[in-house]
Amino acid sequence: MNIVVDRERLIAEIEELALISDAQAPAVTRVVFSPTDMKARAWFIARCEKAGLQVRRDAIGNTFARWVGSDPAAAAVGTGSHIDAIPNAGKYDGVVGVLGGLEAIRTLQQSGFHPKRSIDLILFTSEEPTRFGIGCLGSRLLSGTMPAAAAKKLADKEGNSLEQLRASAGFSGPLEDVKLPDGYYRAFVELHIEQGPLLEQKKIPLGIVTDIAAPASLRITIEGSGGHAGGVLMPDRRDALCAAAELIIEIENAARSSGAVDTVATVGICEVFPGAVNSIPSQVHLTVDLRDTNLARRDAAMRRIEAARQSIALKRQVSIVEEIVNADAPAQCSPEIIAALSAACSKHRLPFIPMVSRAYHDSLFMSRIAPVAMLFIPCRNGYSHRPDEYAAPEDIERGVVVLAESLASLSS
Ligand SMILES: [Zn+2]
Repeated sequence: MNIVVDRERLIAEIEELALISDAQAPAVTRVVFSPTDMKARAWFIARCEKAGLQVRRDAIGNTFARWVGSDPAAAAVGTGSHIDAIPNAGKYDGVVGVLGGLEAIRTLQQSGFHPKRSIDLILFTSEEPTRFGIGCLGSRLLSGTMPAAAAKKLADKEGNSLEQLRASAGFSGPLEDVKLPDGYYRAFVELHIEQGPLLEQKKIPLGIVTDIAAPASLRITIEGSGGHAGGVLMPDRRDALCAAAELIIEIENAARSSGAVDTVATVGICEVFPGAVNSIPSQVHLTVDLRDTNLARRDAAMRRIEAARQSIALKRQVSIVEEIVNADAPAQCSPEIIAALSAACSKHRLPFIPMVSRAYHDSLFMSRIAPVAMLFIPCRNGYSHRPDEYAAPEDIERGVVVLAESLASLSS
């Protein structure tokens, strides 16, 4: 089997898709279910059909383009990613995994290969949280990680419900039907830009992801007592910001003392009320983003934050209320798919390193119902989610070669 990627065609397609955007080039904005998103989907489906793939769409708009195998009843092999883009993003993020997946399939077709298992190219709906405030909506539903009932409650900032929006985008049928049964996929592989600087720094063309870190996000509200900055003496104070300051340091300590570099905690938002120079802060809102590749370790850090919350509230006589926004479990990639990717790299004499994905992707949720792994390619300066995001054509090509080779071995 001779794998020859049509690099010019693939790069031209990436450029063409980037122009279907609500932002001025080179920036890309494609928010889920917007007219621009729908135009991009139609453009993509036309390309899949031209390649002879059978296209199916589910009730949330996840789109499956299938190359039917010689044993159509066997569990399929999946690849793919997303094409939605946050405001003012770049052209490579999920697109490399989607159009790179299409190119991998076309490359295999051209080589004369015929899969035994069907190969699905998946375009996941709403990987980005832009519209509904939660990331990976399509893969959460597909994997049953999010129940349909919870999805039905979602709405965008303008108050349009998910149910209205998907109906007007032409996606009908019960959301309950989106979940795929366990065993539907024998393997799922996602090609993606690294979104970090390591591959570029090490001058290594490929990264094989062994672990996908998962975030837990918390919202914390601290209520103390306000008052005049001159009038209320120190023994009588219940300053919400001082309590927040102590808690933030404890959150940092919870990550620092976990014993592993993979535990990271961030307080990214701290809103102070009333926010006046001569007024004691009465209320503070914090957000916490806590990530790890190991669930037990992440949960231990969560418990440490919880203990700090209780003791600081007691000591400072303030109320500290914590709300868990989400606490997804991290994923370990499948040794079998890692082996297939490694063998493909070796066959094409491409150096690779094992990596941790510190951002999460649709693969994290696909891991709940199928063995998964991810393949990373370098991106310039590690930049992503910005207009100057860039992946070199030769790096994209290498990624597609290894993806095609792996899809062939996994579907045989
Ligand atoms: Zn992405």
